[in-house]
Amino acid sequence: MMLQARLEEAISHMGWVRIPEIIHHHAEEAAAQNISYLEFLDKLLQEEIKAKRDRFIRMKTRLAHLPYHKTLEQFDFSFQPSIDERRIRDLATLRFVQQQENLILLGPPGVGKTHLSVALALEAIKQGFTVYFTTAHDLVQTLQIAHQNNSIKQKMRVFIKPNVLIIDEIGYRKMDETAAHFFFQIISERYESGSIILTSNKSYGSWGEIFGDAVLATAILDRLLHHSHTINIKGESYRIKEKKKAGFFRTESIDDKTE
Ligand code: ADP
Ligand code: MG
Repeated sequence: MMLQARLEEAISHMGWVRIPEIIHHHAEEAAAQNISYLEFLDKLLQEEIKAKRDRFIRMKTRLAHLPYHKTLEQFDFSFQPSIDERRIRDLATLRFVQQQENLILLGPPGVGKTHLSVALALEAIKQGFTVYFTTAHDLVQTLQIAHQNNSIKQKMRVFIKPNVLIIDEIGYRKMDETAAHFFFQIISERYESGSIILTSNKSYGSWGEIFGDAVLATAILDRLLHHSHTINIKGESYRIKEKKKAGFFRTESIDDKTE
């Protein structure tokens, strides 16, 4: 009993989370199967390390604000032949994140831009990188509010600090002058210091329109594209395919904002 109490105290002192759940089972097993002391200790510690790692990943994933959790394994490359699977697998090594390069996914709605960003984000988190996901619209709105509240410096850090910043859906709405200015600042601050994954339904040619200013759009693109990879997806929307399959496809029922 004294031993039991002392063990419990030591375990809580060490901040172990998994060992208290498994120690008795493993101790019985070790006794029954003649497992060596070192092997017993090794088993406990390995399980503890795994549990801590899982907890850490779960926390980092929560902080990343991903809109949904989907992996590369869930991505059907055969449905989207314009995507070179090897290139995506290569990007999934996260060398581009290590080298602070950017990734731009272009293409019409529903072709998997957000899915691929999320999948790469989950890989990045697994490898220990920090990630933050935002839509272009939320990014700009957050910064505008922060600007009004005099907290722009702190807010900017949220978008500058992570190893990977995902800016989803550039081009669905045009930006006004202040918004475009904030956007430019984020891109400049992250230039050669952190990766950006960006998705857009507009090709580079029409970015002048998005930012309402051709000169600013050029400055943004200049920094963004300097060290970057572009994936141009041309194909059918996966959402529409699913609707067709479900048998309730009607042109007027396609609502891209249902995700
Ligand atoms: P968008 O290009 O508009 O960002 P999404 O990545 O959000 O499109 O894809 C829309 C939906 O279809 C998501 O639920 C996504 O997981 C799914 N999806 C898209 N393409 C594929 C694919 N090739 N294989 C599996 N699921 C896909
Ligand atoms: Mg999307």
